[in-house]
Amino acid sequence: MTSLPDVEELLRGSAVVSLPMRTRFRGQTAREAMLLHGPAGWAEFAPFPEYGPQESAAWLAAAVDAGWTGLGEPRRTTVPVNATMPAVPAAQVAQVLKRYGRAEAIPAVKIKVAEPGQSLDDDVARLREVARLLPQAGLRADANGGWTHAEAVRAVEELADVAGDRLEYVEQPVAGVEPLAVLREELHRRGTLVRIAADEAVRKAEDPLRVARLGAADLIVVKVPPLGGVDRAAQVVRDSGLDAVVSSALDTSVGLAAGLALAARLESLPYACGLGTAALLAADVVESPLIPVEGALQVPVRKGRVVAPEPTPRLVDEHRVAGARRDWWDERLRSAHAVLAGRTGAAS
Ligand SMILES: [Mg+2]
Repeated sequence: MTSLPDVEELLRGSAVVSLPMRTRFRGQTAREAMLLHGPAGWAEFAPFPEYGPQESAAWLAAAVDAGWTGLGEPRRTTVPVNATMPAVPAAQVAQVLKRYGRAEAIPAVKIKVAEPGQSLDDDVARLREVARLLPQAGLRADANGGWTHAEAVRAVEELADVAGDRLEYVEQPVAGVEPLAVLREELHRRGTLVRIAADEAVRKAEDPLRVARLGAADLIVVKVPPLGGVDRAAQVVRDSGLDAVVSSALDTSVGLAAGLALAARLESLPYACGLGTAALLAADVVESPLIPVEGALQVPVRKGRVVAPEPTPRLVDEHRVAGARRDWWDERLRSAHAVLAGRTGAAS
């Protein structure tokens, strides 16, 4: 990261927007984000509402990286992207998949499982329906750490039975790093060689190394904002020696550009990325949202460098957040900035 701009510079030309979502996600029906405009382009600061200053500081570092340092040069200009299936009843699966365009082009589907209030039968029915409708797509299940150890053993084995070789991996079947390591060891002992991905267990830069050291997962799901920017995230992936799936945190199309920049930067990209989340938003801040076409996203490149798309003033106005809620975002940015400034000061 270049030197940290002061708060007033970060807030100059910024906007806060609230975008309606098509389906409830993380218990929310709208996604709020702060858009920042720096010399290198537009950036997004959008830590989830419950995140405090320490956690939000990494998200601000990532926004400064995008808007003030720049998103860097791409190694590839097209990134394969998975479709995402929320925890809907099997009967709604076809309707959700329609948003992703031509079925044959979808490289993989991430299927939400272990939703509170639902059963493993619901998960299996949903996965079966996706498998039936998309006979060529890779399948992955995401439990968001929602199972106990015993539930996870049973669920992973049942999903593996249903999906067979098409099951690419199961994402965060249990919470934490150590429990993942214990689960993965037991699955291997039982002869269930399903790949395990760590997602929620990877939130700080040191986490991927611990995941790798403990043998907790076969691959890691990485998001740019919690790792503090594209450069930092790319370094973390390299250091871990694990395959990575670049994912987004329900970003606007401005924030998605940073995820695409990371996916475009990695040497090896064996799995489709989780960057298709703009399809879950009912509105965006740009005229042409970064929604996958034919199962892939084009990396937005200008003069050989990745640059976020420019927000459309009309759309920003339409979804603008003002008043007390805007003040709340300014305050979040200030407190995250104070954390970053403290770190910078301590380091110099
Ligand atoms: Mg996940």
